[in-house]
Amino acid sequence: ALLLNVCFFTYSQNSTIKSSVENVETKVDSVLSLMTLEEKVGQMVQYNGSWDLTGPASNVDAKQKEENIKSGKVGSMLNVLSVDATRQAQELVMNNSRLKIPLMFGYDVIHGYKTIFPVPLGETASWDLEAMEESARIAALESAAHGVNWTFSPMIDISRDARWGRIMEGSGEDPYLTSKVAVAKIKGYQGNDLADANTIAATAKHFAGYGFGEAGRDYNTVHIGENELHNTILPPFKAAAEAGVATFMNAFNDIDGTPATGHKILQRDILKGDWNWNGFIVSDWASIPEMIYHGFARDKKHAAEIAVKAGSDMDMEGGAYENHLEDLVKSGEIDEELLDDSVRRILRVKFKLGLFDDPYKYSNPEMLKNISFEEHLKTARDIASKSIVLLKNEGELLPLKPSVKNIAVIGPLADDKNSPIGNWRAQGEENSAVSVLEGIKNAVGNNVRVTYAKGADHGTGVKNFLLPLEINETDKSGFAEAIEVAKNAEVVLMVLGEDAFQTGEGRSQVEIGLMGVQQELLEEVYKVNKNIVLVLINGRPLEISWAAENIPAIVEAWHLGSESGNAIADVLFGKYNPSGKLPVSFPRNVGQEPLYYNQKNTGRPYSAEHVTYSGYTDVEKDALYPFGYGLSYTTFKYGVPQLTSKKLTQEGSITVTVPVTNTGKLKGKEVVQLYIRDLVASTTRPVKELKAFEMVELAPGETRDVQFEIDEKMLQFYTANKKWESEEGEFEVLTGGNSRDLQKQEFNLNK
Ligand code: BGC
Repeated sequence: ALLLNVCFFTYSQNSTIKSSVENVETKVDSVLSLMTLEEKVGQMVQYNGSWDLTGPASNVDAKQKEENIKSGKVGSMLNVLSVDATRQAQELVMNNSRLKIPLMFGYDVIHGYKTIFPVPLGETASWDLEAMEESARIAALESAAHGVNWTFSPMIDISRDARWGRIMEGSGEDPYLTSKVAVAKIKGYQGNDLADANTIAATAKHFAGYGFGEAGRDYNTVHIGENELHNTILPPFKAAAEAGVATFMNAFNDIDGTPATGHKILQRDILKGDWNWNGFIVSDWASIPEMIYHGFARDKKHAAEIAVKAGSDMDMEGGAYENHLEDLVKSGEIDEELLDDSVRRILRVKFKLGLFDDPYKYSNPEMLKNISFEEHLKTARDIASKSIVLLKNEGELLPLKPSVKNIAVIGPLADDKNSPIGNWRAQGEENSAVSVLEGIKNAVGNNVRVTYAKGADHGTGVKNFLLPLEINETDKSGFAEAIEVAKNAEVVLMVLGEDAFQTGEGRSQVEIGLMGVQQELLEEVYKVNKNIVLVLINGRPLEISWAAENIPAIVEAWHLGSESGNAIADVLFGKYNPSGKLPVSFPRNVGQEPLYYNQKNTGRPYSAEHVTYSGYTDVEKDALYPFGYGLSYTTFKYGVPQLTSKKLTQEGSITVTVPVTNTGKLKGKEVVQLYIRDLVASTTRPVKELKAFEMVELAPGETRDVQFEIDEKMLQFYTANKKWESEEGEFEVLTGGNSRDLQKQEFNLNK
């Protein structure tokens, strides 16, 4: 008991002194040295909180759950969502367990907690890293004030398949852009010091390959080799590890024959070995016992053994570790040192969060009082406006002229206050968004007539593939009213797309067009009034070829969060000049999926341009709207990029100057993009890869020379030597305002 007291003295004193690294390590060791095997296993167990604390965890009944928490057999909980509930759970530990090791409380704070920001795919379209950091900072602050000290975000799975429902949760198809977003998000959540009361631990997920499930089916097998793994999937995770993300989450999928949760090479060798990362890995929900269904483990005990050996540190609601780890160690099947490593990692994060200094620091009702939700909503509106992508604007229908006095607002998503909140939100946020209709009414004065007709339901398709198939909506009885309303308007805003739960986990679809009878509604309205602005509310790229051909103006407005309608109105009326760019390709036809700009060349057909990737006979081979694409109410003209030298050396750099001119009539922002192509290499390489971007704001007539530096590091990739390195030879640098319309120069690397 004396030893215990001494140790507690060492780690609980002097909370004002920021813990140095050695300090934390000493404290971790001192706690670890006191722990029994049972207590070590306890730290590796995470229970679901069943929202409040009263329900059971999936593995044990409510009574047993409470007993286990009291006796230190649980290290963390998820989905405990209030200051009171987290305090109550923490008290069970602090008042009863022997070592009083505080719990961590995790939750999926994916795009805001109370103040809801655009879904991650939408927010990435802003290409505004500061804005993305800011929304994460706000999300952390609001979560912390509700008892949550750990978010399962950012999701940084590269995804190239719009059929995959979870594409809405990530940053799209590009490893470079996703890496930048990952770092911004982690900085926002974790701040400079996790010990600050307003910061929370972040999670890089899902490690790895989850976004590459075959044919976009959720949880599906991933067939990729080492080259793709290292060059496309791992870079954002490496960036997250380097940014000091506190935790990783592994994944449900199997990757080239090995479930990610049981993947030793990924978790132990690469993440904890090569990258030298010292945080902990939580499993995905029950992904440890799910290895049984993968046919990779005989039973839960075997699954626990595989997972621990592979480096999975914490079992989320799987019941594998709590029931079997002790026996596995006692029988010598696993070495206790493996547990020590996991527990050390978990304790380290708890110390960094400052939980040993004050286990209740996140269960403090005072925190909520100091939050200005009004300020947060302003930021949410600003970020939502920045996330909107103008896809088409023929005849300059937009921005809407002040002379417009009669606007029709039509469509199933026009008066919908729930869908813009998107998937993954805290309880209680239902129906809390400003709808498009409300946003328009807020923006116009009394002398503008705004009429509304729903027209039809949006046709939700399958709500969740685990549930029975829902019949797609076919009711057209609302068409007549919509047509009537459209006939009498100067401009028609058609608000179509997907509801909040049409994307997200378990929401993959074979069709990605306008569901239900929405397409028909659009075509019928078009027959009576061609002055249509199509506003899309959705979480994934949609197949909108007919609209792209016929409708004069198209605005991609995603699921934009709390301030959705106001942000959309800001763009429609020109209060905000759109600057968003697509983080993912929009296909002409769903049959093109997976579709992405950074693809490899093929051998056929031959082409002088060396861009010979294959296609189909019945549709153009490229995207309808490519990665990086987005218009403004002004226009930008790009000059040919100028290089300071055509030769790059190991230590040197080349400056690329890209002249960009605002050739339109309004001030506007443009994301200037730089891509590189490696022409001949030891492995085949993508036809282009984003390597840098910069957002500039230009006044009408203004020209800016945007400069980028190219160095040797930028040219590195995972080569045939199985190393990150560059190879000498010829490269192309391509610059412009999207991944398709680029101007190029060549240079050589001579090391
Ligand atoms: C998802 C994770 C999520 C976890 C906890 C799982 O089903 O795949 O992304 O963090 O649930 O809610």
